[in-house]
Amino acid sequence: MKTSAIFKYKKVLSLEIFPPKRTAPIDTIYHTLDELKGLNPEFISVTYGAGGSENNDATLEIASAIKNHYGIESVAHLPCINLTKSEVLFMLEGLKKAGIENILALRGDVSSEFPPKQDFRYASDLISFIKQNGDFNIIGACYPEGHSECPSLIDDIRNLKTKVDAGTDQLITQLFFDNSYFYAFRERASIAGINVPIQAGIMPVVNKKQIERMVSLCGVKLPKKFITMMEKYENNPVAMRDAGIAYAVDQIVDLIAQDVDGIHLYTMNNPYIAQRIYAAISTLLAA
Ligand code: FAD
Repeated sequence: MKTSAIFKYKKVLSLEIFPPKRTAPIDTIYHTLDELKGLNPEFISVTYGAGGSENNDATLEIASAIKNHYGIESVAHLPCINLTKSEVLFMLEGLKKAGIENILALRGDVSSEFPPKQDFRYASDLISFIKQNGDFNIIGACYPEGHSECPSLIDDIRNLKTKVDAGTDQLITQLFFDNSYFYAFRERASIAGINVPIQAGIMPVVNKKQIERMVSLCGVKLPKKFITMMEKYENNPVAMRDAGIAYAVDQIVDLIAQDVDGIHLYTMNNPYIAQRIYAAISTLLAA
């Protein structure tokens, strides 16, 4: 099933997982999925590292298992910056064979370690290419605080409109910790004529290191109350975890009350945390 169709009749909850490292057994992710399936997500997406050091072969295998073994819709992430057109064609064939209909089409981060191949410059180039080569539902990434490389929010929303016009069927945001960025972004998108569903990407923070890495990777801003919370609990892992869960739930309650199209939970492969969040919000999703 194409996941964009689900937004017409319900508020969508989806989950994101990543493949285990090359050195870890693939089975670890199936234990995680055994626990996540009880959350009845509308879909589960599986990341793919643009850099090439991650276990990318596993993305297709896991996305296929989600769809064909667990009976849950799956989304395969596909960052294009280090791929040629023939490599993408090969992957599209693999997805078709596995019956996977949904792709999160991405550019990927530019890194000096892996110089970009020249076939795709932006995610919109990949999206046009996928449209020409298959009947997929295409999801795009978007950035409530603006993408880190873009000179202005206006340029960023113009580029997003180009990406949607190229054939994006739905959008998922980068994580954010202040909902006001999301609401302002949603308004900019609406003014720009972007009418596809926009899911809010929420990451529960469970330790300080994780958030420092996120800030350096994507440049998201941390509100004062969030920093105060981290400083208070950074040396108490259980309190930090519970505070991170409560913070994420608070964000989600507000988003649902303000009619968000859906929530995409970055699970960090931690079913316990996802389960706690789900227990707090499941009735709201259905209300
Ligand atoms: P684009 O949409 O191509 O945008 C990149 C930059 O180029 C932006 O600044 C944009 O404003 C600008 N731009 C776009 N089009 C134009 C144009 N025509 N002219 C000028 N400027 C333009 N990375 C991974 O490697 N693997 C993953 O699995 C993964 N999953 C992700 C999931 C989500 C939900 C999100 C939000 C991000 C994910 N990323 C992943 C990270 C993503 O690859 C990076 O954020 C990357 O830097 C940008 O990707 P994009 O697809 O948004 O790029």
